[in-house]
Amino acid sequence: MNCYLCGMEAKESGEGQGEQLVDCSDCGTYRISSLVLKELETKKFEFSKMRDDLHRQRQFNATSVAEINTETAIWS
Ligand SMILES: [Zn+2]
Repeated sequence: MNCYLCGMEAKESGEGQGEQLVDCSDCGTYRISSLVLKELETKKFEFSKMRDDLHRQRQFNATSVAEINTETAIWS
């Protein structure tokens, strides 16, 4: 698969209920909700802000996986 953020080759490291876990060597590991995946069909991420936010989430809580859901998604 390709990373939803940078479009580079990434690993899908699991699928949970209503979400996908993506492991990108560039963007790191993040969870993306199926609702956001659906919105991605018609919208695009504000890539750099989204990456900053994932970074911020990791700093805020190092034990949990950074999350892209309808609340954290930043659209361009
Ligand atoms: Zn990536």
